[in-house]
Amino acid sequence: MLAVVAALLLAGTVQAGGIIVVARPPGEAGLQLDAALISPELPRLLAGAPVPRDYVVQPGDTLGAIAVRFGVTTAALAAENGIAKPDRIDVGQALRIDDPVPSAPALPPDGAFERLQLWPWPPAQGQTLIVWMQARSAVTFSLSFGGREYPVVTDGPQGWAILPISALAATGPTAMVVAAGGDEMMLDVPIQAGVFETEAIPASASDPILGQPAKVSAEYAKMTKLFAGETPSGWTPRSRFASPLIGQFPRTAPFGSRRTYGDSPAISFHAGEDYAAPPGTPVLAPAAGVVLLAEPLFVRGNAVVIDHGRGVFSGYWHMSKLEVKPGDRVEPGQLLGEVGTTGLSTGAHLHWELRVDGVAVDPLQWFEP
Ligand SMILES: [Zn+2]
Repeated sequence: MLAVVAALLLAGTVQAGGIIVVARPPGEAGLQLDAALISPELPRLLAGAPVPRDYVVQPGDTLGAIAVRFGVTTAALAAENGIAKPDRIDVGQALRIDDPVPSAPALPPDGAFERLQLWPWPPAQGQTLIVWMQARSAVTFSLSFGGREYPVVTDGPQGWAILPISALAATGPTAMVVAAGGDEMMLDVPIQAGVFETEAIPASASDPILGQPAKVSAEYAKMTKLFAGETPSGWTPRSRFASPLIGQFPRTAPFGSRRTYGDSPAISFHAGEDYAAPPGTPVLAPAAGVVLLAEPLFVRGNAVVIDHGRGVFSGYWHMSKLEVKPGDRVEPGQLLGEVGTTGLSTGAHLHWELRVDGVAVDPLQWFEP
């Protein structure tokens, strides 16, 4: 049975930046107190808060028409801008408009699903979306998102899946189909635009990259293959990540920055976070895992990749020294190496990145607060 849920009912309970969609008889209301059963305490939510926009009132505008245009209510718009009389707005007046947070559909009260929870909601480019599912009885779950199937880790009537959203993913409604037993349900997940910087890499720094395409593409292929593997255990939504550096260091290049190189029209995005830490600063494992790679690379310099399980990998580049070898099992806080400036790097810094099913995602979403 395919239940296409079109009605956007306010049946969801937004908690901690996520959304819980429950199946309940019409008229029944109130918080679901057993959410913790399938939704452990979550790591810090970095993004997901709507970004307010500014609008200047034009001739012929009414507050009602502006509200419709931006998908908000007249009352919310009036309240946001301290307008006591909604029929009195002036041409040239500046308005602040909060983007509405889309709600999720209601689940059919008689379906196989009892609960569906998505975090964060709505998700943005570069984020990792976690989906928890609870059925009325032990079932087989399946999940597809944007036309791709994702594994669902199942425990009796509960299941969860981890979905990486590329920093370059198309924004707007993206179809998700979840199934419990033979009961299918479809919902549109509204992918929001991420907030990213633009960074122009000068020709002096980009020539070594652009001038050696064979070396660069060989390394790219090697890393792509590495990140495509999946160990069927390890990471769970209860896993935590600490910082790989102890202390505060300037963040010199944030995740997702759009990059242009010299005069080349090539555009890419920064797949991790850069921190300018002094040479020799210890680099620590942020979570448990197995070392998959520890060797010098052309672009990435002395590099370490840790496999945390379930398609979750973390990478550390440009180190001066490596303190682990492939196959080593590491515990949180274990020394991986030291900050350096090896590979294509213009100064001592640590580049830290996170991959989920091969897709680079924002590591800051995973930090322990
Ligand atoms: Zn970097």
